[in-house]
Amino acid sequence: MSQHPITLIGGGLVGALLAQQLAQRGFAVDVFEKRPDPRHAGFAGGRSINLALAERGLHALRSTGLADDVLQRAVMMRGRMVHDRDGQHSLQRYGIDDSEVIWSVSRGALNTLLLDAAEAAGAKFHFDQALTTADFDRQRIRLADADGVERELSAGLLIGADGAGSALRAAMNAHTPLGERVEPLDHGYKELEIPPASDLPAAVLQAGGGRDGFALEPNALHIWPHGSYMCIALPNTERSFTVTLFLPNRGVAPSFPTLPDAAAAAAFFSEQFPGLLPLMPRFAEDFEHNPIGTLSTLYLERWHLDGRALLIGDAAHAIVPFHGQGMNCGFEDTVVLANLLAEARGDHAGAFAEFQRQRQPNADAIAHMALENYIEMRDSVADPHYLAKRELGAL
Ligand code: FAD
Repeated sequence: MSQHPITLIGGGLVGALLAQQLAQRGFAVDVFEKRPDPRHAGFAGGRSINLALAERGLHALRSTGLADDVLQRAVMMRGRMVHDRDGQHSLQRYGIDDSEVIWSVSRGALNTLLLDAAEAAGAKFHFDQALTTADFDRQRIRLADADGVERELSAGLLIGADGAGSALRAAMNAHTPLGERVEPLDHGYKELEIPPASDLPAAVLQAGGGRDGFALEPNALHIWPHGSYMCIALPNTERSFTVTLFLPNRGVAPSFPTLPDAAAAAAFFSEQFPGLLPLMPRFAEDFEHNPIGTLSTLYLERWHLDGRALLIGDAAHAIVPFHGQGMNCGFEDTVVLANLLAEARGDHAGAFAEFQRQRQPNADAIAHMALENYIEMRDSVADPHYLAKRELGAL
């Protein structure tokens, strides 16, 4: 039976996975994506950016038949490798064996795989098409192309998977307030890179504990906890690591404003992360060129406008990244929504309300855990009392 047409805004991780499942269930799906097609244009200026895929997201991928393909492009992480200031490191496993692990996956490779899968299922993608506004009473949307040329289209059922800064959310909020609250974190982040071991002099590799062509142990999420700030590193299949520095956005040193250039940052790293700096030969270039990312938690009282428009993924519940669960939670959303819409028999308002009823408590809980985990990652993992409790199985 043919289903109601769907207009999906945003073809990122959540939008592409949702498009695949809706198309599989017989919906005519059109996806409007602001950016160019990443399969031709590439991602983030060619930088490797990766994400931790956990059981929650993997479960959703299994139900859509994509888990094996994704895992073939992922690196297993069996625990946190905590690096102390003296250059020592130790692994804190996530489980008693490798049945409880998480996976590092490239955002670009994952998005490409999901776009291919959604297209194969019948979804149609329209790239370089940014939603600018929506008229919910006339069920029409306005889109701007890469040159800023605008056009208006009639829309199907509107779903916003357009991320934390969602334009659809702004349009919905202007029509009927959604009870939006954004809590910015006073810490930002910057991405850096450790290249494969083959690109590094042998002398700097000795203390890293790497193997198989990686400069550090590949099957771990590395953390350098320093109290009010930290670095983490996740492995990439091409044997590099993406390093993320999390640091306060303002205030006394250390904070991003107190590191105005690469020279100041290199001096800070050689004092605070002495083992890490030599592993990053392009440190100065990366520090100068890569932007400082901002982080916040988004809380909404209402995720939908009766049966006309709904928000999903980060557009509905953006969280800080410290539990590595934003994408995972968004993937879980897609399975719930696709099933509800397939069974809705035209009652879209009912399906949207049920979606929020089922998913909002989970999203709120994850948002809370993600904020708590920032303290744990940057601080408690290095605390002997924490380690003693963990030994006893309390954490
Ligand atoms: P997005 O990935 O933001 O995608 C939104 C899409 O909509 C984009 O393609 C965008 O171009 C498009 N778009 C935006 N505006 C418009 C418009 N006006 N019109 C049309 N299209 C538009 N999560 C994890 O699970 N594990 C992790 O390890 C992890 N690490 C993270 C690390 C960092 C530093 C950050 C910032 C986040 C991390 N996350 C992680 C969270 C994860 O990135 C997000 O939860 C996930 O990307 C949300 O997917 P999404 O599709 O909802 O939004």
